[in-house]
Amino acid sequence: MQTCTESEVWSRFLEYAEERCSATAYANWLSPIRVLESTEEEIALEVPNIFVQEYLLDNYAQDLALFLPIRESGEPAIRFVIAEAEPRPMVRNERGTAPLPSEVEPVRRGPTLNPHYRFDTFFEGSTNQFVKSAAMGVARRPGRSYNPLFIYGEVGLGKTHLLHSIGHYVQENYRKLGVQCITTEAFINEVVVSLRGKSIHELKEYYRSREVLLIDDIQFLQNRPNFEEEVCNTFEALINQNKQIVITSDKPPGQLKLSERMVARMEWGLVACVNLPDLETRVAILQHKAEARGLKIPSRVAFYIGERINNVRQLEGAVNRICAHCRILNVEVNEELVERTLGDMLQCAPRDRVTVEQVLKAVATIFQVRVSDIKGTGRTKEIALARQVAMYLARQHVAESLQMLGAFFGGRTHSTIIHACRTIEQKVSANEMLRRQVEMARRNIEAS
Ligand code: ADP
Ligand code: MG
Repeated sequence: MQTCTESEVWSRFLEYAEERCSATAYANWLSPIRVLESTEEEIALEVPNIFVQEYLLDNYAQDLALFLPIRESGEPAIRFVIAEAEPRPMVRNERGTAPLPSEVEPVRRGPTLNPHYRFDTFFEGSTNQFVKSAAMGVARRPGRSYNPLFIYGEVGLGKTHLLHSIGHYVQENYRKLGVQCITTEAFINEVVVSLRGKSIHELKEYYRSREVLLIDDIQFLQNRPNFEEEVCNTFEALINQNKQIVITSDKPPGQLKLSERMVARMEWGLVACVNLPDLETRVAILQHKAEARGLKIPSRVAFYIGERINNVRQLEGAVNRICAHCRILNVEVNEELVERTLGDMLQCAPRDRVTVEQVLKAVATIFQVRVSDIKGTGRTKEIALARQVAMYLARQHVAESLQMLGAFFGGRTHSTIIHACRTIEQKVSANEMLRRQVEMARRNIEAS
C-alpha cells in the first residue's frame, strides 16, 4: 500500500496531464484530488465533489488507463471517495505552490458586457425583428413579460449581442436591479470553484438574489447532469420570484440533450429564433461596420458581398479584410478588389443567386402542394402555410427587394411578405414539426 506522496502512478499521470491542460484547469480540477490508497489492483482517490470525479472521467478516462491499474472491462480501477464537507483553512495544491486566485475565490461578479453589443447597434430586418422586439420587451419590463426568454440560432447571428443589449438596457434604466450575465461554461467553473472553496451556499444566494440573469450558450450544459440540476433549481427559484431569465443556445430547447424538467422550464416563456439577416440588413450591417472603420463601401459593392456572404460574423471578417487591403494599397473598394481579397470567403458562401422558382419548388415538394397553389389565391390551411413558408425562405435566400418578392407571389404587397416572415418565425419556435419541414425545404433550396 502507498500513501498519497508515494503514489508514483498518480504523480506520473499528473505530470502527463499537466502538459495537456491549462494551468487553471489543472488547479481547479486535478490538483485537489488526493490519493488515499494505491495498490496494484486499485487506486482510491479523494475528490472534493462529484464534479471533479466527473471531470476526471470525462476528460481522462483513456489516459488514466495508461497509468493506473485497470479492471477487466478495461476501465481504470479507481475508487472515488468524496471529501468530508468540513472547511479546510486553505486550498493547497499538490505541488505546494501558491494557490491560483481561482482556487480559493469564486470568479469576479457582475456582468461583463461587451460595450458594442447594444440594441442601437443591432440591425434589424424582417427576419430578426421578432427576436429583437422580444429582447427589448424583456429589457423594458424585466420579469414581467416573457420569462424565460430563450433565444436560439446559428453561430454568429447575434445571440450574444442581444443578450448583452438586454444587460446594458437594464443597467442603464433600472439601476437598482442586479444583473448577472455569464456564459454557461463560466457558470460551471464558478460552481466548481465555490464547491472547492466551500462557498457554494454564497454562490447560490448570489444568483438567487439577481433580478436579471442572462445565460449565454446553454448548450454547454448538455451531458453534465449534476450541473444541470443546479442550474434548473436556480431557474425555478428565480422564476418563482418573477425575476427575469434570458437564455441563448445554438438549438431550440427540445433539441438539447437536457432533462425533460429543464426543457420544460426553458419552454415555459417565449422561444425566439435569430435568423440569417435578409439581404438589405446584411448590406446595412456591412456598410455600417466599414464606416465605423473609416471606409465607405459603395452600395453596388456592398450588395455584391451581401449576396455572397450571409453570416454576420463572416461579414465582419470580410470588412476587416477589405479595410486592411484598402489601407495598405490605398485604393478604392470595387468588385475586383473584393473578389481578390475575399476569394475564399465568397466561395464558401452559398452559390450565386437563388431564384424564387427554386424556393417554390422546394417548399411545394416538402409541403405536398403545387407550385401554382402557392402562387395562387387558395386559402386552405395547408396552402396558406406553404405559401407563408415560401415567402419566409424567399426573403432569406433570394436577393430581391420585398416589392419584387411580392410580385413573384402573385402580386402581393411587401407587408404581406413581412407578415408571413413574422408568422413563420413564431410558428417554428413553437412547432418542432414545422421547423423540421422548413429546414428540409431550406436544404433542398441549397442543394438545388
Ligand atoms: P452569436 O452569439 O449568435 O454567435 P454574436 O452575438 O457573437 O453571435 O454576433 C457575432 C457578431 O456579429 C458580433 O460582432 C455582433 O455584433 C454581430 N452581429 C450579429 N447580428 C448583428 C446584427 N443584426 N446587427 C449588427 N451586428 C450584428
Ligand atoms: Mg454567442
